[in-house]
Amino acid sequence: MRRWILALDISHWTLTLDVRLMEQPEAVREAFEQEFGRFARFRGAESAAFDGLRLADVETTLRELSDLRTRHTGKKSALANLKKQIGRAAAEERAQFAQAVQQLEARIAEEIAKVERALQDTAARLRTERERLDVTLPGRRIRRGHVHPINLIRQRLEDIFVAMGYTVEDGPEIENDFYNFTALNIPESHPARSPQDTFYTTDGFALRSQTSTVQIHAMQRRQPPLRVIAPGKVFRRDTPDATHNPMFFQIEGLVVDRGISMAHLKGTVTEFLRRLFGTDVRTRFRPSYFPFTEPSAEFDFSCFKCGGTGCALCKQSGWIELGGSGMVHPNVLRAAGVDPAEFSGFAFGFGIDRMCILLYDLDDIRLLFENDVRFLEQFD
Ligand SMILES: [Zn+2]
Repeated sequence: MRRWILALDISHWTLTLDVRLMEQPEAVREAFEQEFGRFARFRGAESAAFDGLRLADVETTLRELSDLRTRHTGKKSALANLKKQIGRAAAEERAQFAQAVQQLEARIAEEIAKVERALQDTAARLRTERERLDVTLPGRRIRRGHVHPINLIRQRLEDIFVAMGYTVEDGPEIENDFYNFTALNIPESHPARSPQDTFYTTDGFALRSQTSTVQIHAMQRRQPPLRVIAPGKVFRRDTPDATHNPMFFQIEGLVVDRGISMAHLKGTVTEFLRRLFGTDVRTRFRPSYFPFTEPSAEFDFSCFKCGGTGCALCKQSGWIELGGSGMVHPNVLRAAGVDPAEFSGFAFGFGIDRMCILLYDLDDIRLLFENDVRFLEQFD
């Protein structure tokens, strides 16, 4: 009695298993059909499903189809799993099961291949169309760029100084302590060395806070007599506002020769300003202090707008402050390997941005750095 029930149970269980085995290819096919559905409309390159499709769309669909193939025929797919079961199937079912699996495999491969071909043909056609050259089309107008206002002014300044016998020098924007401070006679305790004023990069290096650093490089490289200007970017830790920006442009002038005096400095700055604003311009030097010059002076010029009678630009003073200057400090000459007993020199510097603001009558320095095309286009 017991034995009989057991046998029935086994038989029932075996039967169930076999039926489920034969159902499996059908289940895998259904799963494939469901996912493949959205690709099925692309069967045949003439299919209306391709109408209005761009090359990029077709290429994306091709990639998605390739993913689908991996999912449904790859090593970890349900189909691969079915193939593994062929060997384990009961002998009397094996042939039928194997045939069902093979038919399924062939069908999946064929469906995918058909759509893939149609997609590839369409992609090739769209590529050809894109590359076809229509010689009757009007040429595309290239939008011409133009020089930034700072560079326009910089070029004007360079032209004037080159005509006066100066050469244009360039120097690094990242400097070590020696070039940025020590050689310029800036003492250890000077506030300019504070991280609140200077951008330090890695240990011992800083973004140059003035173009005066180029003086040292130029003297070391060329040895006097020399006449150079050094236009370029400088960096200071300022919060941007209408008159300040943490990065701005300076131009530095340096003359070192035998017998150079303050008279040469005044004559040079005045001549430069006359060439820029006209022969009526007057200059004025006010005593000042800079660590790298002695004596030092700030220089102003008579307002080019009102001619010195007073206006809004010069704040009714008749004068416009421009920059700093002075006779090169003997310590600076020594630091660059120049003998102060034999040579003397003068240096001056001012902001190119400031000059730009004056000449174009701008009310905010930040306009020069925001790269707003609507602003920049006015300088075409
Ligand atoms: Zn004025």
